Amino acid sequence: MKGTGRMDAEIKNGKGVLVKVVPEDMPAYRKRSSFITNYPKIVQIPITEKCNISCVFCGARQVEYVSGIYVERGDVETWILDKLGGELLAQAHLYLTGGGEPLISKAFWDFICGRRPSRMLSFNTNGIFLTPQNIDKLMAYKGELATLSVSINACRPETYKRLMGVDGFNAVIGNFKNLKAALKAAGSKTHAGISMVVVKENLEEIPLMPVLAKELGADFVAVRNAEFNTPAYTKDWFSTEEQDIRLDKELVRIYEGYMSDLAKACREAGLNLVGKDDVGDTCNELFNFIGLRANGESFSCCLGASVPTGNLKDHADLWGLWNSEKLMRMREQIMRGEIPPECRQDTCPYWREVKKGGKYDAKSYLCEFSGLCIDAEVTRSGLEIRRNSKALLKGSVKNCGNETWSNAGLKENGLYKIGGRILDRSSGSTVKELRCNLSAAVPAGGTAEFGLLIDTAGLDAGAYILKLDMVREQLFWFEDKWNSPFLVRLNITASPRP
Ligand code: SF4
Repeated sequence: MKGTGRMDAEIKNGKGVLVKVVPEDMPAYRKRSSFITNYPKIVQIPITEKCNISCVFCGARQVEYVSGIYVERGDVETWILDKLGGELLAQAHLYLTGGGEPLISKAFWDFICGRRPSRMLSFNTNGIFLTPQNIDKLMAYKGELATLSVSINACRPETYKRLMGVDGFNAVIGNFKNLKAALKAAGSKTHAGISMVVVKENLEEIPLMPVLAKELGADFVAVRNAEFNTPAYTKDWFSTEEQDIRLDKELVRIYEGYMSDLAKACREAGLNLVGKDDVGDTCNELFNFIGLRANGESFSCCLGASVPTGNLKDHADLWGLWNSEKLMRMREQIMRGEIPPECRQDTCPYWREVKKGGKYDAKSYLCEFSGLCIDAEVTRSGLEIRRNSKALLKGSVKNCGNETWSNAGLKENGLYKIGGRILDRSSGSTVKELRCNLSAAVPAGGTAEFGLLIDTAGLDAGAYILKLDMVREQLFWFEDKWNSPFLVRLNITASPRP
């Protein structure tokens, strides 16, 4: 396995005795550098460019509009999937998504039904072909189906029809319910949610998204405003001049108000909210992500940058492309606080800020935990906490980045908190989330004391991992920004017999 490492863990038990805990083997967490020692966290392959519907804001149609050339669409070339080695498939999270509808793609189904599953797989669909037969095939996938996002784009049938060009709202709602029922019956941990790309036409329906998601039993809602690369794009009744909310200050104000309320509504409803623009934070795309187009060209940003950064054809495998001279040079520029020339386009949120007269500010989100003490058993092999019990983990966290952790003026979105995750040790999937508020702002270099309650209610006895990190609520974990979380084994033991 490329780039595995070990984390030391020291922790006091309830009697104040310091125990050195045997470190847990986990993928290495390290400082950012231009040469990356692990495969990308996310590999995106738009498995097909074909689609069964024609949404008014479809990105592929915008390109045709500009060029005046209709492009024949097809599936990704099979050699691309063949070049993904077993080691990569065992480590990366594969997104078979973008550009077309995977459920009508032969390449997609060949992969799903094939013998080389990826560790984790996610994809987006418009949901029209989430038929019972296709749901069965998805349920039989041999890897982990991590996330499935259904582009619903509206909460009312008439809005759906105007935007998506088909009268399919009720059918998709029915399909989603069938999918959830199948996942539940199988005890699956797949996250299934609904997504919306916002234009003026559906703006007023943002507040309905959590209501619809709850009704459907969805795990998350993903909402983001539409990105138009081509000015004055029109299709039928639709025009960007009228519908692009970014062009109208009043629409932007309404959108931001809805998004703020949405974060609160999602939290109250127990839904994850995905898709807030991460503008102003350091770009991590080049360090975590690589995408491959149908012809093998690579792109290095899931935020929309389209300039090719290489081609898999020129490399024996993805490893060579991932650490190509060009990508290493782009990473170096990002680390110096420069936007690489390839990224200087309107789809890049950081470049948009620079164009407005702002600065690309390479923010760092790093933290370090110390002085940890838990009112529970600690052995060489980790923490021991009984089922259905609680243990308080106290300690301090140091702000090792260059940003003050301040929650002033924030409601839900973006709040800085101490976060924990309990992971199933065999699958690595999260089984419980933990949170602890900061009592005051923490400047760069400062520290804060905390007490995080670990409640094992609802968890079976068994082997777990406790991961401690800082989180910006609804936005990201510091780990996503290249921080090293604190990892320790957690054994949940059976309750003693009464
Ligand atoms: S386009 Fe912007 S967000 Fe994407 S990789 Fe480049 S700098 Fe990062």
